[in-house]
Amino acid sequence: MTWIDDPTRLAVRVDPTLAEAAVRCALTVFVPAPPEAFEAHQRRAERCYEIDGQVERDAAFARLALAEFDELGLADPLRHAVAERPALARLVRVILVGEARGHVDEGVTCESGGEHLGVRVSVARLGDPGELLAWARHAMGHAEDTLGPTFRFEPGWDGPGGHRVSSAATQARVHRLWDVTVDARLVRAGRLGELRARQRHHEQVAADLPGVAPGTIDVVLDRLWDGPQPAFPELLAWAARPADLIAALAPGDPGFARPDRCPLCRFPSDDVVPPERAIADVVAADYPDWRPEQGLCGRCTDRYRFAGRLGGRG
Ligand SMILES: [Zn+2]
Ligand SMILES: [Zn+2]
Repeated sequence: MTWIDDPTRLAVRVDPTLAEAAVRCALTVFVPAPPEAFEAHQRRAERCYEIDGQVERDAAFARLALAEFDELGLADPLRHAVAERPALARLVRVILVGEARGHVDEGVTCESGGEHLGVRVSVARLGDPGELLAWARHAMGHAEDTLGPTFRFEPGWDGPGGHRVSSAATQARVHRLWDVTVDARLVRAGRLGELRARQRHHEQVAADLPGVAPGTIDVVLDRLWDGPQPAFPELLAWAARPADLIAALAPGDPGFARPDRCPLCRFPSDDVVPPERAIADVVAADYPDWRPEQGLCGRCTDRYRFAGRLGGRG
């Protein structure tokens, strides 16, 4: 019998400090434990306090934290989310759980063989099994894609050496596009409610494609949701040039509307067009919310071209 027949047997390693924080969170906030459970926890902790010697006392607290973490089954949602994906479950031998500093730091990483699955998660989520399962089902979708041969994932794409993605805004778009395909498959597997997920992704895709006709957004989302799963290089290319996303998924539909005001200087202008790459990079550094496809007027383009030659910013 392997752990897949009994997911509770999949090894999970967690730092005792994180385990203790999660246990406290679970006992006081989330798990519908009877009051006796918390009192029993207090009694066990008090016995640790009575131990002489700092080293022995710390070791006893660590053992207690890990035992209670296990007894409460706080890692079980992670195990179940892996077990639900046979291709991933065949590879994973141990889950390493670390603490995330806030939601943006949460995620899953794995080495190319997939034996060690690293999970970074916040204490609050780790102490709330329902929340943890919903989150882990999504996160394991990324892990499964990352390890799958057809997805052609590029390790380190968003790190310092990640040559393909230049800006934080592009990185965020990669995540949002990838998230759509992960959630679409979760919905098809019956593990995520369709209505709210689809609505949320529709809003995010629309926000990433400002000025694009609503009908075009609908087509793009439909294709991302129901169409063949894009490989990672496609997601990267579409995130870097959203016009290509529209051209690929909604060919023939109206793309970016040409605004009659410049998004930077706000003056009416009839020459608002996407600037060349070098200028776009400088403008994007000054205006994080601006995207090249929103365009610039000729005056702003010249201003940034001049500033670029001087080596400064407009
Ligand atoms: Zn995601
Ligand atoms: Zn302007």
